[in-house]
This record gives sequence, C-alpha cells and structure tokens, in this order.
Amino acid sequence: MTVTLSFLTQEKDTLPGLVDKKEITAALRLCNYDPDEVMSVYLTIFGNSLFQSSSKAQHFSELNSFRSHLEKDRIIEDLKQKLYTKENELEKLFQRNSYLNRDSEYLANMVHQLNQRVAELEADKQEASEKIRALLNRRSTEVPAKVPPKPSVDLEHLRQVSRLTHELNVSNKHLSSTVRHMLVDLQNHFKQLRELVEKMTEAEQHRVKEQEELRSLYMKEALERKTLYNKLLELQGNIRVFCRCRGNATANSCVEVPSEQEIAVIQKGGKKKFNFDRVYSPNSTQEQVFEGTLPIITSCVDGYNVCILAYGQTGSGKTYTMMGPKNSPGVNIRSVRELLSICKNRENVTYTLKVSMLEIYNDSLNDLLAKDPSNHLDIRTQGKSVTVPGLTQVEVKTEDDILHVMEMGEKNRKIASTKMNIESSRSHLILTLTVLGADSISGVISQGTLTLCDLAGSERISKTEAKGQRLVEAAAINKSLTALGQVFSALKCNAIHVPFRNSKLTHLLQPCLCGDAKACVFVNVSPDARNMVETLSTLQFGSSIRQVALGKATQHVTSTPNTKQDK
Ligand code: ADP
Repeated sequence: MTVTLSFLTQEKDTLPGLVDKKEITAALRLCNYDPDEVMSVYLTIFGNSLFQSSSKAQHFSELNSFRSHLEKDRIIEDLKQKLYTKENELEKLFQRNSYLNRDSEYLANMVHQLNQRVAELEADKQEASEKIRALLNRRSTEVPAKVPPKPSVDLEHLRQVSRLTHELNVSNKHLSSTVRHMLVDLQNHFKQLRELVEKMTEAEQHRVKEQEELRSLYMKEALERKTLYNKLLELQGNIRVFCRCRGNATANSCVEVPSEQEIAVIQKGGKKKFNFDRVYSPNSTQEQVFEGTLPIITSCVDGYNVCILAYGQTGSGKTYTMMGPKNSPGVNIRSVRELLSICKNRENVTYTLKVSMLEIYNDSLNDLLAKDPSNHLDIRTQGKSVTVPGLTQVEVKTEDDILHVMEMGEKNRKIASTKMNIESSRSHLILTLTVLGADSISGVISQGTLTLCDLAGSERISKTEAKGQRLVEAAAINKSLTALGQVFSALKCNAIHVPFRNSKLTHLLQPCLCGDAKACVFVNVSPDARNMVETLSTLQFGSSIRQVALGKATQHVTSTPNTKQDK
C-alpha cells in the first residue's frame, strides 16, 4: 500500500492523462499493482503525443474521448457476447422443446393403446367369469358319468406275443453274439493282413535296397569291365586287324582259313600263313563280322574316337563288309543301329548324333551331303582337333534318318562319279558319326566319333594299263594308301612324329589313329587264284599293321625314315 501511495503521487506527475487518484488506483488494479505495466500500457496508448508541444488540455480531452470510445467498444463487445450466448441457449431450448413434443406424442399414443388393451382384458375377464358361472351351475345339476367298461384281453394271443417276443430276444442275443464274434474275427484278419502288408513292405524295401546294391555293384562291375577291356585293348594295341575272305568262292581258290586267327595263301612253293586278330572265312556271316567290331564301336558312346577301315583290292568285299546289301546289312548300318540302341538305353545321358559323309577322290575332299558335292573342302588342324570347315553335318535321331542320309550321300556320289566319269571304287568313302553325350548327373559332356571308311581299291595298276585320268587316279590312291602304311609304320615305332599330313586321307583320319583312339582294320581278300598277288600284298599290309597293334613299344624314337615326307 505504501508503494501504491507513493506511486499515486509519482504517476500523477508523470502521466497527466490520468486525471484523479481513483483512475490511477483503477489502472494499478488492472495491472496487478505493477507500476511498470501501468506505464507501459499508458505509453502504448498515448505514445509520443504526450511529449509534443500541443496543449495538455487538448491531450486530455482526446484522451477522454478515446477512453469513452474504448469503453463503448468494450460494452458493445460484451453485449454481443451475451446476445450470442442467449441465442445459443434459445436454440437449445427450441431443440429440447421439439424432443419433448415428440416424447409426449409417443406417450399419448402408448396411453391410448394401453387403455384399449385394458378394455379388451376387462371384456375377456367378464366373459371368463360368465363361463365359470355357467359351468358351476351345470355341475350342480348333472348326474355322475358311468365308468367305461374294461377292454377284454385275449390271453392266448397275449401268450403268443410273449413267446414271440422271447424268441425274438433270444435270436437277437444270438445275432449280437455272432456279430461280435465276426467282428473279433474281422479284427484279427485285419491285424494279420496289416502284419502281412508290413512284412511285404519291409520285404519290398529290402528288395529295392538289394536291387540298388546290385545295380551299383553291376555298374561298378561294368565300369571295371570297361576299364579292364580298355586296358586289354591298350595292351593288345588300339588297332585291331581282322581279315575277311570274300564269299562266293570260286572253284579255283588260293586261300585257306585253318583257324579263327589264321589265313593261308596257297602258292606254288607251299602255303604262306598270316595271323590276324580274327579271320573271317567266306562262310562267315555279316552278324559274325559285326560282332568282332562291336566292343570297339561301343566305346564311341563313351567319348572315344573310333575308326573302322576296309582295305583291299576292288572286288574283295569291302563295300559288302561296310555297307552290305539291304537284306544283309554290313558294319555301317549295324553300328548305327547299335549306337542308337546304346544311346536310348542310357537314361541319364542325352545324346545327339550327327552324320557327315565325304569322298576323297584324287586327294580332294567332296561333301556328299552338300547341294554341290563337287565343291572341294579343306582340312584344318587346331591343336589336336582336325576339322573340315563347311562339311555338312545332319542331325539324326532314328535308324531311318541315318539310312535316308546315307542313301542321299550314295546318290550324290553316283551322280558326281558319272559326271566325272569315275568308278566308285576309285575313291575313299568316309562316313562319320559324331556322338555328343550330356550326362545329366555328372554334367560331363563327351564327344566321340565313329568313322567308317570304305577305302579305294588297293590294286596296283600297271603303267601300261593306266593312262590319263586313270593314271592320275591310280597315283592318288597309291599315294594315300602308301601314306596310310607310313602312318602305321610310324605308329609301330612309336615315333614322336607320325606323318599324318602326307595325304588327305591320313590327315583326316589322324584323330582316329592316335592318342586313345581305337581302330579296326578289315583286310578284305578275294579267294580267287587269279587275284593271288593282290591277296598276298593285302595280307602283307594287314600283317604289318597288326605288328603295330601288337608292338606297343614304350621307347620313343626321335625320328623315322618317313618323317621327311610329312609336310
Ligand atoms: P569292293 O567293295 O571291295 O570292290 P564288293 O563289296 O563290291 O567289293 O564285292 C564285290 C562282289 O562280291 C559284290 O557283288 C558282293 O556282293 C560280293 N561279295 C563280297 N563279299 C561277299 C560275301 N562275304 N558274301 C557274299 N558276297 C560277297
């Protein structure tokens, strides 16, 4: 309070706008007795005008009018607020009134319905009372009713029914016991059956296990057998030499076949004997001949390069051995059949078979499956692989496919030879089957080839006989067959360098004659005494190749006399 009184005096001088003490006190109360705030409000309202030079009286009148304006505004604002509140209240009252009206209507309705119901009940009550009264009156006047007579019972019938019921009960019991027994029997049967099934399942599992063991054992055996067989072939040499003496022997025969490994040529001075891996007599069948080549052929499916060659003079049975007539097919068709069957039976390996067919004539390569077989092809060597760029390869799936392709090749060969006036026996025919195998389990991809080669006639043509084109042909054949002999000689010595490139024939056959390739050479001879010289020469050639096969020397020689000929 002391502060307030001192402030009253101070404020009166400082703020001339505040006229009397009451006003100052009111201002202080509004500002919670904070003199600074009073000052601040005052200055905000009047600002600098207080300090201007205009007369104080004018300022005071302005201040008073401003204050009355402010007061009026505040009153108006208050009234507005009150009006707004009243309006809201009125609105609510109207709403409430409408609710009450609705409720009252509903209640009036209810009262009406209840009144109606009461009236109905009253009427019912009246009616019921009248009925009771009437009944009471009737009871007092009525005579008591007679007791109904008891129904008469047929005792005999009753006894019969009782007996039947008893019998029924007995048979029912009997039936129940039979059913029970049968159920027990059935359960036993089921039990036995279940045991039997369990035993059978066990036996089946055992059998499957045994079968699997057997299969794996068999596979192991087969693998071992194959390995052993390969080792045996390796020991024997990878080149098998078979001799086949042509059938249809004439009376004047100069050949004898004393055993399965021996052939003898009857000469003036006595007999000259030759030994081979197998000698097929004129009576040997195509099946027997094929059986000899079978183990070699099958290794083509395992990714080996296999080659079968037929060597001999014209007319000695080379084509018969390799191709054969339709009713008695030779090695070619039987091999294809066998390969297709092996490929089909190997479930885990997907095979793709491709065939190519070419002819080497005058040291030139002609693609017999091409549209124009007269186009000469070249051989390309890349590392160990030898390819013929541009050579047509036809994918085959069935025997018919292959037969069709072979027929097409033969046809092209005939057309080309007629055009060029050459005999088919003056060219080498090479049929190559490429077998690609993709093993789905091991993921291994193998590529093997089977080269079936029907060589040109090996007979020597005397210089007087051969002229012009024949002389060129003879020279080309002689050159290629000599090159073949040279290759075998180099292999015999186990030479580091083998002259494969001395002819197109040996160059092309290189993959089938080196490394782990397997070859089978048929030396075909004619039994005719007139062909004795050629027969002797052919047998000599075969015999020398066989020495290659048998003489697998371990020693490496650095050079051979034939190496110079290699280009
Ligand atoms: P090359 O191909 O060596 O010139 P071929 O295969 O054409 O000889 O045979 C000449 C003839 O001899 C053909 O008529 C052929 O049917 C027949 N011939 C060859 N070998 C036999 C054989 N083992 N059995 C029956 N006939 C044969």
